[in-house]
Amino acid sequence: MKEALPDPADPARHPGASAPGAGAGALILRGAGSLAAALQAVADEPGAGALLCDIDGTISPIVADPYDAVVPAAFRAALEALAPRLGLLAFITGRDVRQAAAMVGVAEATYVGLHGFDLLAPDGTVVRDPAAAGYVDRVQKMARRVSGLDAETLGLVIENKGPMLDLHYRQAPDPAATLAILEAEILGPARALGLAVATGHFLVELRPPEPVDKGTAVRRLLQAGGRGETALRSAVFLGDDLTDCTGFAAIHAWAAEAAPAGPGDARTVAPPAETPAKRLALAVAALTDETPRQVRDEADVWVDATPGVLVVLAGLLEAARTQAGR
Ligand SMILES: [Mg+2]
Repeated sequence: MKEALPDPADPARHPGASAPGAGAGALILRGAGSLAAALQAVADEPGAGALLCDIDGTISPIVADPYDAVVPAAFRAALEALAPRLGLLAFITGRDVRQAAAMVGVAEATYVGLHGFDLLAPDGTVVRDPAAAGYVDRVQKMARRVSGLDAETLGLVIENKGPMLDLHYRQAPDPAATLAILEAEILGPARALGLAVATGHFLVELRPPEPVDKGTAVRRLLQAGGRGETALRSAVFLGDDLTDCTGFAAIHAWAAEAAPAGPGDARTVAPPAETPAKRLALAVAALTDETPRQVRDEADVWVDATPGVLVVLAGLLEAARTQAGR
């Protein structure tokens, strides 16, 4: 029996360079008990632990221009230390996948971009879901239309990702007015072309209307298993926006699934001697005043964005290090 982990909300349990200082407990806004259970699962079996992590607003503070966003050094240090200890560390983002990998800069991690459409393979090549290909021309047609708008006056930052087009309007002098113009000039015509429109924090996104999202990416990653195809037993998803709710749902569904049957016909083989190991899922929402209600409702734990995320990462790292010899 391992020594019980102390309360994750206790700032005294976060020594070391990657740990936040005193007051860390105040950054866990809800669900400290659920967090402690997940940390215990990681301490019991770090190699069976998966950490699935959004980037913007989660490990990277939101800034006015998304091209200026960075992952602070303390976050990167914690994530780099976690990567070789966990069964799976994956970053799942709406960003271009190569840009995401460069921004996070953690090796030994899996990167999923464009909300699940792109996967960065270990050899550096990008594997794109073929379903995205048929929409590039239509998205680029809308990109040309957007280039006819007065982006400066509207406070628009345009992110052209090929099969997706993000229009950020955080810098708009009148966000409602900018959104109304986008609706009339871009979003309506995009829908008429058969594209889907997704929304986020001061963001609208044109995308293929395909059933691909962070949740489908998470399901695929968890099914593939950890390093060496090790079965995963715990999954923590960190996110801050509506697109992350599909990731929350995916880990919850994964944990609720019955343990897979053993080899052979389940009706004729003897039942397993031991109860199959349970799976544990923890959805962590990084909150600001802007966090959509759905994100709060569907998360198990609320933390203050983004310093509270660092508290969670430090807790995971401490848990992963508790296993002897690691
Ligand atoms: Mg985000």
